[in-house]
Amino acid sequence: MRKYKYLIIGGGMAAAAAVAGIREVDRAGTIGLIGAETHPPYDRPPLSKGLWKDKPQSSIWRSLEKTALTLHLGRTVRTLNPEKKNVVDDQGGIYAYDKLLLATGGTPRRLPFGEDHIVYFRTLDDYTKLRELARNGDHFAVIGGGFIGSEIAAALAMNGKNVTLIFPDKAIGSRMYPPELAEFLNGYYREKGIIILTESKVTGCAMRQGKLVAKISHGSNSDEKEISVHGVIAGIGVEPNVSLAATAGLKVNDGILVDTSLRTSSPDIYAAGDAARFYSPALDAWLRVEHEDNANTMGGFAGVAMAGRAVAYSHLPFFYSDLFDMGYEAVGEVDSRLDIFCDWTTPLKQGVIYYLKAGRVRGVLLWNIFGQIDVARALISTPGPFSPANLKGRILP
Ligand code: NAP
Repeated sequence: MRKYKYLIIGGGMAAAAAVAGIREVDRAGTIGLIGAETHPPYDRPPLSKGLWKDKPQSSIWRSLEKTALTLHLGRTVRTLNPEKKNVVDDQGGIYAYDKLLLATGGTPRRLPFGEDHIVYFRTLDDYTKLRELARNGDHFAVIGGGFIGSEIAAALAMNGKNVTLIFPDKAIGSRMYPPELAEFLNGYYREKGIIILTESKVTGCAMRQGKLVAKISHGSNSDEKEISVHGVIAGIGVEPNVSLAATAGLKVNDGILVDTSLRTSSPDIYAAGDAARFYSPALDAWLRVEHEDNANTMGGFAGVAMAGRAVAYSHLPFFYSDLFDMGYEAVGEVDSRLDIFCDWTTPLKQGVIYYLKAGRVRGVLLWNIFGQIDVARALISTPGPFSPANLKGRILP
């Protein structure tokens, strides 16, 4: 049995940030990190963005202080015993801890067909697999109009591939963007050569006579067609990995519940990143956030807390995306069901999109505007009341 002062389950960005957080406070305490992937921690955003442009793969690795740090990679923890303060991995390895961090992330949702023919894009191995497919093939089907779908479709098209993007909504990113911007994006992607199939679903995917065939149905009628492709990529959301925590009796509700010190309902066990649900004072709401800034900031805070320094996590994480030569940064509740005020500098090309509820700013999306996230955060924390009249011109490029 191995014994660590700090044990981290998960090998992603939150885990890497936690190692740094622990070392801010405790220079020498032993740290064990157990990760299911065979790679050490790396930055995930470049997999669907920069690596398809000019960013080298060597730039994604997280620098980890090696002192008293042991990585156990290619192992999945199967059991957590809070009373005995140990965990058991899938190879029978037992690890005891003083303080434990659950940075277990999320697992991509899967379709009930297609088996290994569909790449559920999330990891470096998925990126490598898609690169290999793209080396040998020209036509790709991308399922889902969310973050992965919109970024991977753009990445493949920028690399000269024919892409068919298929999703159930009326437009790309409909959950987030106001309808006019989502519609504009449909047109923009089409201009870039991407075939957009809206209100459509992939209903099957199989090899036939040596060719990969995706079956697509459109709308409510049973209007079905088939396309032959060299690869199918899906981004249809992720489920937080909470089963280890739930089975161990920790409080879970669409995420592992943590207090402001990022402690779970079990003393000496902390959680951070995609799998953790925390209270946001700025929004007066419980959040589970699946973005880089949250993984890094929350992971860092959790590490500091595990090492014994008091923390209060009140960070409102931001997120960002690149879509061809457009991009944005956003913070808060960016949900197209809220009241929306678009303060365009140039219609659909540059502007600030405010998401409002009962006179409060709940979220801000800075479309082709960068470096103003702190101003947006401050607005979300201000009681207001806000309206288009007093928001107009408040954030400028
Ligand atoms: P996502 O952004 O939640 O998008 C999922 C999309 O899949 C939605 O458009 C959804 O449509 C669609 N969908 C659901 N079921 C479907 C089905 N059966 N067939 C076709 N489409 C279906 O999730 P994601 O793109 O998979 O991204 C995964 C995670 O990575 C997310 O947590 C995301 O935050 C993170 N990520 C973030 C970034 C970034 O911050 N820039 C980039 C990449 C990934 P409906 O809306 O109609 O349900």
